[in-house]
Amino acid sequence: MEFETLCIHGSKDNTHNTGAVCVPIYQSATFTHPSVGESTGYDYSRQQNPTREQLEQTVASLEGGAGALAFSSGMAAVACMLELFSPGDEIVASEDLYGGTVRLFESIAAKNGIRIFYADTGKPDELQSVISYKTKAVFIETPTNPMMNVTDIAKVKRSLCGRKLLLIVDNTFLTPYFCKPLKLGADIVIHSGSKYLGGHNDTIAGFLSAKESALCEKLRFIQKTTGAALAPFDSFLLLRGIKTLALRMNQAQRSAGEIAQWLKKQEKIKAVHYVGLPEHPGYEISKKQASGFGAMISFEVDTKETAVSVLERVKLILYAESLGGVESLITYPILQTHADVPEEKRVKLGINERLLRLSVGAENVKDLINDLNQAIN
Ligand SMILES: *Cc1c(COP(=O)(O)O)cnc(C)c1O
Repeated sequence: MEFETLCIHGSKDNTHNTGAVCVPIYQSATFTHPSVGESTGYDYSRQQNPTREQLEQTVASLEGGAGALAFSSGMAAVACMLELFSPGDEIVASEDLYGGTVRLFESIAAKNGIRIFYADTGKPDELQSVISYKTKAVFIETPTNPMMNVTDIAKVKRSLCGRKLLLIVDNTFLTPYFCKPLKLGADIVIHSGSKYLGGHNDTIAGFLSAKESALCEKLRFIQKTTGAALAPFDSFLLLRGIKTLALRMNQAQRSAGEIAQWLKKQEKIKAVHYVGLPEHPGYEISKKQASGFGAMISFEVDTKETAVSVLERVKLILYAESLGGVESLITYPILQTHADVPEEKRVKLGINERLLRLSVGAENVKDLINDLNQAIN
Protein backbone atom coordinates (compact mmCIF):
# COMPACT_ATOMS: atom_id res chain seq x y z
CA MET A 1 0.00 0.00 0.00
CA GLU A 2 1.11 3.56 -0.66
CA PHE A 3 1.75 5.91 2.26
CA GLU A 4 -1.54 7.87 2.11
CA THR A 5 -3.51 4.61 2.00
CA LEU A 6 -1.55 3.13 4.90
CA CYS A 7 -2.36 6.22 6.97
CA ILE A 8 -6.05 5.49 6.46
CA HIS A 9 -6.20 1.69 6.24
CA GLY A 10 -3.17 0.68 8.29
CA SER A 11 -5.23 0.02 11.40
CA LYS A 12 -8.07 -2.44 11.85
CA ASP A 13 -10.18 -3.67 14.73
CA ASN A 14 -8.66 -7.13 14.88
CA THR A 15 -10.37 -8.39 17.99
CA HIS A 16 -14.03 -8.61 16.88
CA ASN A 17 -15.80 -9.01 13.56
CA THR A 18 -18.09 -6.03 14.12
CA GLY A 19 -17.16 -4.34 10.86
CA ALA A 20 -16.21 -1.17 12.73
CA VAL A 21 -14.51 1.17 10.28
CA CYS A 22 -12.46 2.81 13.01
CA VAL A 23 -10.49 1.08 15.74
CA PRO A 24 -12.61 1.31 18.90
CA ILE A 25 -11.31 2.71 22.17
CA TYR A 26 -10.67 -0.32 24.36
CA GLN A 27 -11.05 1.55 27.61
CA SER A 28 -10.14 -1.40 29.79
CA ALA A 29 -7.30 -1.61 32.27
CA THR A 30 -7.31 -5.38 32.41
CA PHE A 31 -8.46 -8.42 30.40
CA THR A 32 -9.88 -11.74 31.58
CA HIS A 33 -8.01 -14.96 30.95
CA PRO A 34 -9.92 -17.65 28.99
CA SER A 35 -8.51 -20.26 31.38
CA VAL A 36 -5.57 -20.77 33.67
CA GLY A 37 -2.30 -20.09 31.86
CA GLU A 38 -4.08 -18.70 28.79
CA SER A 39 -4.27 -15.16 27.46
CA THR A 40 -6.27 -13.38 24.76
CA GLY A 41 -3.03 -11.63 23.91
CA TYR A 42 -3.98 -8.79 26.25
CA ASP A 43 -3.47 -9.01 29.99
CA TYR A 44 -3.10 -5.48 31.32
CA SER A 45 -3.12 -2.18 29.41
CA ARG A 46 0.28 -0.96 30.59
CA GLN A 47 1.69 -3.93 28.69
CA GLN A 48 -0.57 -3.76 25.67
CA ASN A 49 -4.03 -2.58 24.71
CA PRO A 50 -5.83 -3.30 21.41
CA THR A 51 -6.23 0.37 20.49
CA ARG A 52 -2.61 1.18 21.22
CA GLU A 53 -1.46 -1.93 19.42
CA GLN A 54 -3.15 -0.84 16.20
CA LEU A 55 -1.59 2.61 16.52
CA GLU A 56 1.86 1.11 17.09
CA GLN A 57 1.50 -1.15 14.06
CA THR A 58 0.42 1.81 11.93
CA VAL A 59 3.42 3.91 12.98
CA ALA A 60 5.78 0.96 12.44
CA SER A 61 4.47 0.47 8.92
CA LEU A 62 4.72 4.20 8.12
CA GLU A 63 8.33 4.37 9.35
CA GLY A 64 9.33 0.99 7.92
CA GLY A 65 10.29 -0.31 11.38
CA ALA A 66 10.06 -3.84 12.76
CA GLY A 67 7.80 -2.37 15.41
CA ALA A 68 6.83 0.81 17.22
CA LEU A 69 5.88 1.81 20.75
CA ALA A 70 3.44 4.53 21.75
CA PHE A 71 4.20 6.63 24.83
CA SER A 72 2.36 9.19 26.90
CA SER A 73 4.64 11.94 25.52
CA GLY A 74 7.58 12.50 23.23
CA MET A 75 9.79 13.00 26.28
CA ALA A 76 8.64 9.65 27.71
CA ALA A 77 9.79 8.08 24.42
CA VAL A 78 13.21 9.76 24.67
CA ALA A 79 13.47 8.74 28.35
CA CYS A 80 12.69 5.11 27.44
CA MET A 81 15.38 5.19 24.76
CA LEU A 82 17.89 6.47 27.34
CA GLU A 83 17.26 3.35 29.47
CA LEU A 84 19.13 1.34 26.83
CA PHE A 85 22.33 2.86 28.23
CA SER A 86 24.34 2.36 31.42
CA PRO A 87 26.57 4.52 33.61
CA GLY A 88 29.81 5.27 31.77
CA ASP A 89 28.20 5.19 28.33
CA GLU A 90 28.44 8.25 26.12
CA ILE A 91 26.01 9.65 23.59
CA VAL A 92 26.87 12.21 20.92
CA ALA A 93 23.98 14.51 20.01
CA SER A 94 23.22 17.31 17.57
CA GLU A 95 24.06 20.58 19.31
CA ASP A 96 20.83 22.26 18.26
CA LEU A 97 18.14 20.10 19.86
CA TYR A 98 14.62 20.39 21.21
CA GLY A 99 14.99 22.13 24.60
CA GLY A 100 13.18 19.37 26.51
CA THR A 101 15.60 16.79 25.15
CA VAL A 102 18.54 18.93 26.28
CA ARG A 103 16.96 19.22 29.75
CA LEU A 104 16.52 15.44 29.93
CA PHE A 105 20.10 14.84 28.78
CA GLU A 106 21.62 17.43 31.13
CA SER A 107 19.66 16.49 34.24
CA ILE A 108 18.37 12.92 34.23
CA ALA A 109 20.88 11.27 31.89
CA ALA A 110 23.81 13.06 33.54
CA LYS A 111 22.61 12.00 37.01
CA ASN A 112 22.46 8.41 35.77
CA GLY A 113 26.09 8.55 34.66
CA ILE A 114 25.45 8.86 30.93
CA ARG A 115 27.59 11.58 29.37
CA ILE A 116 26.25 13.55 26.46
CA PHE A 117 28.57 15.32 24.04
CA TYR A 118 27.30 17.77 21.45
CA ALA A 119 28.50 18.32 17.92
CA ASP A 120 27.33 19.81 14.67
CA THR A 121 26.19 16.47 13.27
CA GLY A 122 26.04 18.11 9.84
CA LYS A 123 29.87 18.14 9.91
CA PRO A 124 31.25 14.56 9.94
CA ASP A 125 34.71 15.73 11.11
CA GLU A 126 33.27 17.50 14.13
CA LEU A 127 31.17 14.42 14.88
CA GLN A 128 34.18 12.09 14.68
CA SER A 129 36.17 14.32 17.03
CA VAL A 130 33.74 13.71 19.93
CA ILE A 131 33.14 10.00 19.35
CA SER A 132 35.12 7.78 21.72
CA TYR A 133 35.24 4.06 22.47
CA LYS A 134 32.57 4.74 25.11
CA THR A 135 30.13 6.27 22.63
CA LYS A 136 27.07 4.04 22.36
CA ALA A 137 24.78 6.22 20.27
CA VAL A 138 24.55 9.21 17.98
CA PHE A 139 21.37 11.23 18.42
CA ILE A 140 20.26 13.44 15.54
CA GLU A 141 17.47 15.92 15.11
CA THR A 142 16.95 17.08 11.53
CA PRO A 143 15.93 19.72 10.67
CA THR A 144 16.80 21.06 14.10
CA ASN A 145 14.63 23.03 16.42
CA PRO A 146 14.63 26.02 16.04
CA MET A 147 17.53 26.77 13.68
CA MET A 148 16.54 24.28 10.93
CA ASN A 149 20.02 22.82 10.55
CA VAL A 150 19.98 19.73 8.37
CA THR A 151 22.05 16.59 8.91
CA ASP A 152 22.72 14.10 6.14
CA ILE A 153 21.57 10.91 7.88
CA ALA A 154 23.07 8.43 5.39
CA LYS A 155 26.39 10.29 5.51
CA VAL A 156 26.51 10.08 9.32
CA LYS A 157 25.71 6.38 9.05
CA ARG A 158 28.61 5.90 6.60
CA SER A 159 30.97 7.90 8.83
CA LEU A 160 30.19 5.50 11.71
CA CYS A 161 31.29 2.56 9.56
CA GLY A 162 31.80 -0.57 11.51
CA ARG A 163 31.25 0.99 14.94
CA LYS A 164 28.67 -0.67 17.15
CA LEU A 165 26.66 2.47 17.76
CA LEU A 166 22.96 3.14 17.61
CA LEU A 167 21.95 5.89 15.23
CA ILE A 168 18.87 7.59 16.65
CA VAL A 169 16.88 10.23 14.75
CA ASP A 170 14.16 12.52 16.07
CA ASN A 171 11.85 12.67 13.04
CA THR A 172 9.18 14.91 14.62
CA PHE A 173 9.58 17.78 12.14
CA LEU A 174 9.34 15.84 8.89
CA THR A 175 7.28 12.78 9.86
CA PRO A 176 7.58 9.55 7.83
CA TYR A 177 5.52 11.23 5.10
CA PHE A 178 8.55 13.31 4.14
CA CYS A 179 11.49 11.35 5.58
CA LYS A 180 12.16 7.75 6.63
CA PRO A 181 15.34 7.70 8.73
CA LEU A 182 15.26 3.91 9.21
CA LYS A 183 15.66 3.52 5.43
CA LEU A 184 18.63 5.93 5.55
CA GLY A 185 20.48 3.85 8.14
CA ALA A 186 19.01 4.89 11.49
CA ASP A 187 18.33 2.22 14.12
CA ILE A 188 15.68 4.09 16.11
CA VAL A 189 13.26 6.85 15.15
CA ILE A 190 11.69 9.11 17.77
CA HIS A 191 8.54 11.20 17.50
CA SER A 192 6.69 13.64 19.54
CA GLY A 193 3.24 12.42 18.49
CA SER A 194 1.89 15.62 20.03
CA LYS A 195 2.99 17.37 16.83
CA TYR A 196 2.25 16.31 13.22
CA LEU A 197 1.20 12.72 13.88
CA GLY A 198 -1.58 13.80 16.24
CA GLY A 199 -1.88 16.98 14.22
CA HIS A 200 -4.68 18.76 16.08
CA ASN A 201 -3.01 20.29 19.13
CA ASP A 202 -5.24 18.19 21.37
CA THR A 203 -3.11 15.28 22.61
CA ILE A 204 0.35 14.60 24.04
CA ALA A 205 2.00 11.44 22.73
CA GLY A 206 5.34 9.99 21.71
CA PHE A 207 6.79 7.12 19.67
CA LEU A 208 9.84 5.00 19.22
CA SER A 209 10.21 2.82 16.16
CA ALA A 210 13.18 0.52 15.63
CA LYS A 211 14.49 -1.20 12.53
CA GLU A 212 15.33 -4.51 14.21
CA SER A 213 12.83 -6.57 16.15
CA ALA A 214 15.37 -7.45 18.86
CA LEU A 215 15.76 -3.74 19.63
CA CYS A 216 11.97 -3.29 19.60
CA GLU A 217 11.63 -6.08 22.15
CA LYS A 218 14.28 -4.48 24.40
CA LEU A 219 12.44 -1.14 24.24
CA ARG A 220 9.10 -2.86 24.82
CA PHE A 221 10.48 -4.46 27.97
CA ILE A 222 11.62 -1.03 29.23
CA GLN A 223 8.25 0.53 28.38
CA LYS A 224 6.30 -2.22 30.11
CA THR A 225 8.57 -1.91 33.15
CA THR A 226 8.71 1.88 33.46
CA GLY A 227 5.10 2.35 32.39
CA ALA A 228 4.70 5.48 30.25
CA ALA A 229 2.41 3.80 27.68
CA LEU A 230 -0.15 5.82 25.72
CA ALA A 231 -3.73 5.55 27.01
CA PRO A 232 -6.46 3.97 24.82
CA PHE A 233 -8.37 7.21 24.20
CA ASP A 234 -5.19 9.08 23.25
CA SER A 235 -4.21 6.16 21.01
CA PHE A 236 -7.55 6.57 19.23
CA LEU A 237 -6.91 10.31 18.75
CA LEU A 238 -3.51 9.54 17.27
CA LEU A 239 -4.97 6.94 14.89
CA ARG A 240 -7.53 9.51 13.82
CA GLY A 241 -4.89 12.21 13.36
CA ILE A 242 -2.65 9.96 11.27
CA LYS A 243 -5.47 9.32 8.77
CA THR A 244 -5.01 12.87 7.44
CA LEU A 245 -1.22 13.10 7.92
CA ALA A 246 -0.40 13.30 4.20
CA LEU A 247 -3.17 15.83 3.49
CA ARG A 248 -2.12 18.06 6.36
CA MET A 249 1.59 17.86 5.55
CA ASN A 250 0.98 18.80 1.92
CA GLN A 251 -1.22 21.76 2.78
CA ALA A 252 1.09 23.06 5.54
CA GLN A 253 4.20 22.67 3.42
CA ARG A 254 2.71 24.51 0.47
CA SER A 255 1.72 27.40 2.72
CA ALA A 256 5.10 27.40 4.48
CA GLY A 257 6.87 27.85 1.14
CA GLU A 258 4.68 30.84 0.28
CA ILE A 259 5.06 32.37 3.73
CA ALA A 260 8.85 31.98 3.66
CA GLN A 261 8.98 33.81 0.32
CA TRP A 262 6.70 36.54 1.65
CA LEU A 263 8.74 36.98 4.86
CA LYS A 264 11.93 37.42 2.83
CA LYS A 265 10.46 40.51 1.17
CA GLN A 266 9.54 42.28 4.41
CA GLU A 267 11.82 45.08 5.50
CA LYS A 268 11.68 44.20 9.19
CA ILE A 269 12.63 40.57 8.57
CA LYS A 270 16.39 40.10 8.66
CA ALA A 271 16.68 36.34 8.12
CA VAL A 272 14.35 33.48 7.20
CA HIS A 273 15.32 29.92 8.12
CA TYR A 274 13.20 27.57 6.03
CA VAL A 275 14.69 24.38 4.64
CA GLY A 276 12.63 24.76 1.45
CA LEU A 277 14.38 27.98 0.41
CA PRO A 278 17.05 27.15 -2.22
CA GLU A 279 19.56 29.37 -0.38
CA HIS A 280 19.12 27.38 2.86
CA PRO A 281 22.37 25.46 3.58
CA GLY A 282 20.39 22.24 4.07
CA TYR A 283 18.31 22.54 0.89
CA GLU A 284 20.27 20.08 -1.28
CA ILE A 285 20.63 17.46 1.45
CA SER A 286 16.92 17.74 2.18
CA LYS A 287 16.07 17.18 -1.47
CA LYS A 288 18.20 14.04 -1.39
CA GLN A 289 16.99 12.46 1.86
CA ALA A 290 13.42 13.73 2.16
CA SER A 291 10.46 14.13 -0.15
CA GLY A 292 9.49 17.45 1.43
CA PHE A 293 10.76 20.33 3.52
CA GLY A 294 8.10 20.43 6.22
CA ALA A 295 6.27 23.47 7.50
CA MET A 296 8.46 24.92 10.25
CA ILE A 297 9.94 28.38 9.72
CA SER A 298 12.17 30.41 12.01
CA PHE A 299 12.78 34.04 11.26
CA GLU A 300 14.68 36.94 12.73
CA VAL A 301 13.08 40.34 12.99
CA ASP A 302 14.98 43.64 13.29
CA THR A 303 14.64 44.25 17.03
CA LYS A 304 13.52 42.60 20.23
CA GLU A 305 10.65 45.14 20.35
CA THR A 306 9.40 43.96 16.95
CA ALA A 307 9.58 40.33 18.10
CA VAL A 308 7.51 41.10 21.18
CA SER A 309 4.99 43.18 19.25
CA VAL A 310 4.52 40.45 16.61
CA LEU A 311 3.71 37.98 19.39
CA GLU A 312 1.24 40.41 20.90
CA ARG A 313 -0.40 41.40 17.62
CA VAL A 314 -0.98 38.08 15.88
CA LYS A 315 -4.68 37.19 15.94
CA LEU A 316 -5.29 34.09 13.84
CA ILE A 317 -1.83 32.65 14.47
CA LEU A 318 -1.74 31.64 18.10
CA TYR A 319 1.10 32.56 20.41
CA ALA A 320 1.63 29.18 21.99
CA GLU A 321 4.24 26.48 22.37
CA SER A 322 4.17 23.32 20.27
CA LEU A 323 3.92 22.77 16.55
CA GLY A 324 2.58 20.49 13.88
CA GLY A 325 -1.16 20.99 14.39
CA VAL A 326 -3.82 22.35 12.04
CA GLU A 327 -3.74 25.63 13.99
CA SER A 328 -0.71 27.78 13.13
CA LEU A 329 1.35 28.59 16.21
CA ILE A 330 4.11 31.09 16.84
CA THR A 331 6.65 30.86 19.67
CA TYR A 332 9.52 32.76 21.15
CA PRO A 333 12.25 30.12 21.55
CA ILE A 334 14.44 32.19 23.88
CA LEU A 335 11.65 32.46 26.48
CA GLN A 336 9.86 29.19 25.82
CA THR A 337 11.20 26.00 24.25
CA HIS A 338 14.85 26.99 24.71
CA ALA A 339 14.72 28.87 28.02
CA ASP A 340 16.72 26.10 29.71
CA VAL A 341 19.49 26.03 27.11
CA PRO A 342 22.63 27.71 28.54
CA GLU A 343 23.20 31.23 27.17
CA GLU A 344 26.62 30.44 25.72
CA LYS A 345 25.08 27.66 23.66
CA ARG A 346 22.13 29.80 22.59
CA VAL A 347 24.49 32.47 21.31
CA LYS A 348 26.53 29.92 19.36
CA LEU A 349 23.37 28.51 17.77
CA GLY A 350 21.86 31.90 16.95
CA ILE A 351 18.87 31.68 19.26
CA ASN A 352 18.48 35.34 20.18
CA GLU A 353 15.74 37.69 21.32
CA ARG A 354 14.89 38.57 17.70
CA LEU A 355 14.15 34.98 16.67
CA LEU A 356 10.59 33.72 16.26
CA ARG A 357 9.44 30.24 15.28
CA LEU A 358 6.33 29.64 13.22
CA SER A 359 4.53 26.33 12.82
CA VAL A 360 2.41 26.69 9.71
CA GLY A 361 -0.95 25.00 10.06
CA ALA A 362 -3.70 24.05 7.63
CA GLU A 363 -5.51 27.40 7.37
CA ASN A 364 -5.75 29.21 4.02
CA VAL A 365 -2.36 30.79 3.39
CA LYS A 366 -3.95 34.14 2.47
CA ASP A 367 -5.36 34.47 5.97
CA LEU A 368 -2.00 33.55 7.48
CA ILE A 369 -0.10 36.12 5.41
CA ASN A 370 -2.71 38.79 6.20
CA ASP A 371 -2.28 38.07 9.88
CA LEU A 372 1.52 38.22 9.68
CA ASN A 373 1.29 41.41 7.65
CA GLN A 374 -0.84 43.23 10.22
CA ALA A 375 1.40 41.95 13.04
CA ILE A 376 4.76 42.78 11.45
CA ASN A 377 4.11 45.90 9.34
C1 LIG B 1 7.85 18.45 21.17
C2 LIG B 1 9.10 17.75 20.82
C3 LIG B 1 9.60 16.73 21.64
C4 LIG B 1 8.95 16.36 22.95
O1 LIG B 1 7.69 15.81 22.78
P1 LIG B 1 6.48 15.98 23.84
O2 LIG B 1 5.39 15.24 23.16
O3 LIG B 1 6.23 17.43 23.99
O4 LIG B 1 6.92 15.36 25.11
C5 LIG B 1 10.75 16.09 21.23
N1 LIG B 1 11.39 16.41 20.09
C6 LIG B 1 10.92 17.38 19.27
C7 LIG B 1 11.65 17.71 18.01
C8 LIG B 1 9.76 18.09 19.61
O5 LIG B 1 9.32 19.06 18.81
